[in-house]
Amino acid sequence: MHRIIGLLLTVSSPLFAQHWTSLKTPHFEIYSTKDQPAALEDLQELQTINSFFEALQPFGKISDTKPIQVISFRSKNEYTPYAFRSESGGYYFHTEKNDYILIGDTGPRERAMVQHEFTHLVVTQAGLTLPIWLNEGLADFYSTVEVNGTQATVGRPPNLYMETVRNARFLPWDTLFAVDAGSSMYSVGENLAHFYSQSWALIHMLKLDESYAPRFQQFLTAVSEGQSSKEALQAVYHKSMAQIDSDLSAYFKKRKLPVAVIDGMRPADYSAPIIAEAADFDIQFALATVLAWKANGSEGLEKLANLSARYPDRPGPEEELGWLVLRQKNKEEARRHFEAAVQRHSKDPEILFNTAELEKEAGAKYAQIAPLFRQALAIEPNMDSARLELGLLEYQNLQYKAALSLLSGMSTIPDDDKFEAYLTMAQCYSNLDDFANAETYVKKAAQSARNDDQKEDAASLLETVQRDKESGSVPASAAKVESKITNARGMTKTLQCEGTKKLLTLAIDGGASMTFDISDPDLVVRHPSDTYSRWACGPLKPEPLTIVYATPTNPAEKTAGKAIELVF
Ligand SMILES: [Zn+2]
Repeated sequence: MHRIIGLLLTVSSPLFAQHWTSLKTPHFEIYSTKDQPAALEDLQELQTINSFFEALQPFGKISDTKPIQVISFRSKNEYTPYAFRSESGGYYFHTEKNDYILIGDTGPRERAMVQHEFTHLVVTQAGLTLPIWLNEGLADFYSTVEVNGTQATVGRPPNLYMETVRNARFLPWDTLFAVDAGSSMYSVGENLAHFYSQSWALIHMLKLDESYAPRFQQFLTAVSEGQSSKEALQAVYHKSMAQIDSDLSAYFKKRKLPVAVIDGMRPADYSAPIIAEAADFDIQFALATVLAWKANGSEGLEKLANLSARYPDRPGPEEELGWLVLRQKNKEEARRHFEAAVQRHSKDPEILFNTAELEKEAGAKYAQIAPLFRQALAIEPNMDSARLELGLLEYQNLQYKAALSLLSGMSTIPDDDKFEAYLTMAQCYSNLDDFANAETYVKKAAQSARNDDQKEDAASLLETVQRDKESGSVPASAAKVESKITNARGMTKTLQCEGTKKLLTLAIDGGASMTFDISDPDLVVRHPSDTYSRWACGPLKPEPLTIVYATPTNPAEKTAGKAIELVF
């Protein structure tokens, strides 16, 4: 008995002594120190605002389907060590992997705070890049959502803001628009209230005044694409800042401000959660992650490292540590953490992809990198970045069919990668003697060329392909081609003997085959058994083999090249 008590004491800490409940639905994972009914209320608030945004999609479609991590505290005291800013009653932030909402306010403003933070999340997931005033103004605008059955309203003015807006004079607009994370306007109590209410006031008019509302989306897009707030306002609404300012004063002198009413809402998705006591690892991991992503998160980094040591099978802490040091541009340490996560069977395709990329940069070879990309694609078959990287690798490794299937399966090729992807596809087709397709893709590559070197590469390949296409073979007098040393992997297939000439054919992954001249008396053969000496001319027993060879200098040569080394 004594021993058990002693063991409990060693792991207890003030926080761990709390009772943590976890609520899980497909959309949310909530960890809460509140009692169960209060935690369920938090979930319901989140489900309401989530359904509202799903129905309205005011910022475009959201593609992220991972559950949102929510940590809710039963008191401000419990919340304070995790708060990013001391004044806030809660906040939203995201790591590379997850979105987090922290709920620290349990007072009457809790609902507004949850809706405010949720708006930040939706804006981020929609990929909008907004200045702080606009982000906060929108979050406050949508912090007033009320849903009653199939009807929702948004925009009912909070009393506090109306007082500030009606009593205080506005800040100069240039000052408001220029507020950034370091501004005193955004950190000192009294200024803060002023900043929020003015931002909210302008958004309220832009969203709900009938002369401004129709072009709000256009304004939002313009700002997100980089136009300054002032320029975008003037350009989209064709009004000077002075006119907009006087419109706003008149707007707030109205007896009654407009409110948006949305009818025909589908009932919110109140999926019942799975309720459980939060597992030690889950809660410790969530809290350590929050601390680690705070601006000065050394305490969190330490906690993550401790968790990693305590739970040597869990990839999560190593994944977060990897992302955190990568953010500080420490690639070597990031690679070590990611490799540890992969060894712990990380199922995160981004981790697998980034591990491969970092290993490639550190000089790793095909055999090490390709399996990581393949695993990433097995988990996320539509991951275009992994398709591209693996496709280029397969081509370099002479796996033309595999390369083609990967590259042609990309749903979008980023502009910057088009030239390389198309040229590689053209080369694959050309190597498979499909000259018509080779020509199509080399032309696409030429259209995507971004500099003279690329244009030249495309032009010279086009010439070769068109010549090959017309003649099927190439005259011996053709210009001499430079020889390259490269390698191929495959299974042994046949050995053809013609006098002193020996031709070896390998079956390559994906169904193609390649023939090599292995007649060179200086041929190096490395193998643990005596397979090579037992070869007779004719069909061979299939065995894995890597051939290092020199590509032919004579374009008329029918083999892939002269073998230098056979590695069994
Ligand atoms: Zn905010």
